[in-house]
This record gives sequence, structure tokens and C-alpha cells, in this order.
Amino acid sequence: MVEEINPYEVAKTQIDIVAKEMKLDPNITEYLKRIERALIVSIPIKMDDGSIKIFEGYRVHHSTVRGPGKGGIRYSPHVYLDEVKALATWMTWKTSLLNLPLGGAKGGVCVDPKKLSKAELERLTRRYTAEIINIIGPDIDIPAPDVNTNAQIMAWIMDVYSMQKGRSVPGVVTGKPIEIGGSVGREPATGMGLYFVLQALCEKLNLKLKDLSIIVQGFGNVGGTIAELLYNHGCKILAISDISTGLYCGDGLNIEKLLKWTKEGNYLKDYKDNNYKLISNDELLTSKCDVLIPSAIENQITDKNAEKIKCKIIVEGANGPTTPEADKILYKKGIHVLPDILANSGGVCVSYFEYIQDIHSYFWKLDRINEELKRIIIEAFEETYQISQERKIPLRTAAYIIAVSRIARAIELRGVFP
Ligand code: NAD
Repeated sequence: MVEEINPYEVAKTQIDIVAKEMKLDPNITEYLKRIERALIVSIPIKMDDGSIKIFEGYRVHHSTVRGPGKGGIRYSPHVYLDEVKALATWMTWKTSLLNLPLGGAKGGVCVDPKKLSKAELERLTRRYTAEIINIIGPDIDIPAPDVNTNAQIMAWIMDVYSMQKGRSVPGVVTGKPIEIGGSVGREPATGMGLYFVLQALCEKLNLKLKDLSIIVQGFGNVGGTIAELLYNHGCKILAISDISTGLYCGDGLNIEKLLKWTKEGNYLKDYKDNNYKLISNDELLTSKCDVLIPSAIENQITDKNAEKIKCKIIVEGANGPTTPEADKILYKKGIHVLPDILANSGGVCVSYFEYIQDIHSYFWKLDRINEELKRIIIEAFEETYQISQERKIPLRTAAYIIAVSRIARAIELRGVFP
């Protein structure tokens, strides 16, 4: 467990907050706080030295009421069931907010993938897939990459599933390599979505994006992409971090060089530049900037540090980086928080495009992907912004109102079986 705060409790508190605001039927509130199903599996792996190690894995469906489950798979030594339940719940709100015909799911394996060889990682992925095979599939639940998983891992999952079915089934996962049914634009999609919503919020607030100073926590798929997009746009990136350290430079970091460094498999702590100062992830979060973009893990902005945060805008690249207590403090301070279910929904949006391209066996050009992504995410942003203005509520509560209303309506229309 990364922190003592349980992300699933956070997810349930967020439901209570929106239920109160919407005066939601208490029966539906209770319904939404439950997950549909969770599978816990043991994953025995033959290690390269001949020994057998057993890892624990999970796959959780929070809601499939509006369509098949959708959500990433996380490999981390800190993964545990309640975290996966929370992440699955947030996926339900995300797909609903974008009005995609999908539900919410998530998976994880409690493992430090950096300690495995490539062959061990492949065996772990293949066995995990075999263990969860009955609850995934293009019509059931479609996994994707998350922290420490990538296109190669998706390719192995697709292969195991396809071997069991006796035919190639690319639509079982998204975030695959392009050569086997992946989509152009999927890898940078989450960062791209962050960029579109930040740009849209800046327009509302009469801020020029290129004049803003930026701090990004997490320098992987999401953090690396948004840092690069904003750097190329002309923004000053004051600080970035990975799990090893934070790096700060008042004159701005050279993101291009740092990306090259980390993409070669290096940690930021080993990067040598005398103008750059090493700072902790905690210091990074409370350093002064215009836009703070937490893009690592949950529970980073809490009641312990929210008062010390000195930015105008927070864009949640990560899922669940801010606790409900911190939200209250940030709102009082007048900090605009672009919530995770909106801000980082670009990934699931292009995952949806990948899924439909696979089903149709017809692939789109990058221009079309980015155009459709922008249209869908900006529509959700505008709707969210309008509700937040009308009701004088935070953007998160507004986004939840839209997402939860759609799920509640679907439950009402379908009825409760039997
Ligand atoms: P990633 O594995 O590519 O990168 C994670 C980054 O965070 C790395 O730089 C890592 O070193 C850093 N990190 C990990 N643990 C940390 C810690 N304890 N403190 C500080 N830094 C830490 O993962 P990603 O895909 O970029 O995902 C990052 C976040 O974005 C997660 O919350 C994930 O759920 C969310 N997200 C990802 C996608 C996607 O498409 N990949 C979509 C939506 C949301």
C-alpha cells in the first residue's frame, strides 16, 4: 500500500458527495458503491533460475451496465484489491462522462516488473491472462495498458486469448502495437487529452497557455507526453519527477533530452546537469507554478499538503491523485482542478477508437483520431464546465453529475434483474 488512504474509500466518498448534490435515490447510491465482480488469481511463474514464484493478480468489473468493461492493467508491488476496485469505479465514470458505450473495469498484478527478466515478464503476463480469460473479451471486458504495462504486454495478452479462441481476436485489448491491430495515436492519447482540456480551460480563464509554468509528477506515458506537448508549445517546464526523484530548474528543463534519457531505461536521479536541482516528489508538488499535473499514482494531494499547493490549475493525469479532503481545501483556495475522469480520458477514448477499428478491420489516419478525440473530450469539458458554473460547484462534482446520471438512467431503464 502506497499510503494509508484507501483509494476505494475515496471513490465511495466521491459517490456520496455527488449523490448529495444530485439528491440521488439512496438505493442507486448503494448500487454504485458496489463492484459487479472481482477475480483474485494466483500466478505461479517458473523463474529463470528454476524456482517457482507465485504472484497475486486481480481483475475487477465495477459496472457493465452501459457496455463491456474497459480499463487498464497495472503491474506494481503496491497493487491491492481495493486499489483495483477504485480504479475500476473511476473507469465507469470516465466512459460514462465521454458517453462511450463501455463500462468500467481494471486489473493489476502485485509485482515489481523491473525485477523480472523479459522472459519472466512474458510468462507472468501469459499466465495472468489465462487465469482471467473467462471474464475478458471484446464483448465482456477489454484491458489496456496502465502503470508499468505497455504495448508489448498487450500483444502477449492478445496472443493468449487468440490461441484459446483458435482465431486472431485483436479487439480483446487496446493499446496494442500498431502492426497487430493497434491504433495510431493511442500511445500519446492520454497526454493529448490533457492538453486539449487544459487549453480549453485556459480559454475560459483568459490565460495564454504558452505563458504558463508547468510542473509534472510522473514521467511515463502520461507525464512524459504532456510534458513534451507543453514544452513544444513553448511552456516552461519547471519540474518533472519519476519514482526515483524530482528534477527542478527555474529556467525550465530540456524535456527532449530528459525524455531520451528515460526512454533508454534510465532514472531521472542519474541524469547529470549542474543547472538542475534534485527535489523530492513532495517538494515538487508544493513548488510554485501555474499548472501542476500529477501523472503518477493515487493520493498525492491530500489534506497534509493541499494547503501548501501554489498553482492556479491542477490537471489530473493520474487516476485519483487528489483526496476528497484535499479537494475541499483546493476549492477554497480557488485552484481549478480538471478531474481525472475528464482530464485523462483521452486514453480510453482512443482505446474505444482502437476497439471499433479492430471490429471493423478498418484503420483510421492520425488526423481523424485526434480530431474525434478533441471533439469528444471538449464536448465533455464544455458540459462539465457549464454545470460547474451554473451550480457553483467544483469541476469534479460537475463531471460526476453527468457520469453518474447516465449510469443511474441505464440502471433505471434496464431494471434490476430478475
Ligand atoms: P507509466 O508506468 O508509464 O509511468 C508512471 C510514472 O510515474 C513513471 O515515471 C514512474 O516512475 C512514476 N511513479 C511511479 N510511482 C511513483 C511514485 N510512488 N511517486 C512518484 N512517481 C512515481 O504509467 P502511465 O501509464 O503514465 O500512468 C500514470 C498515471 O496515469 C496512472 O495513475 C494511470 O492510472 C493514469 N492513466 C494512464 C493512462 C494511460 O493511457 N496510460 C490513461 C489514463 C490514466
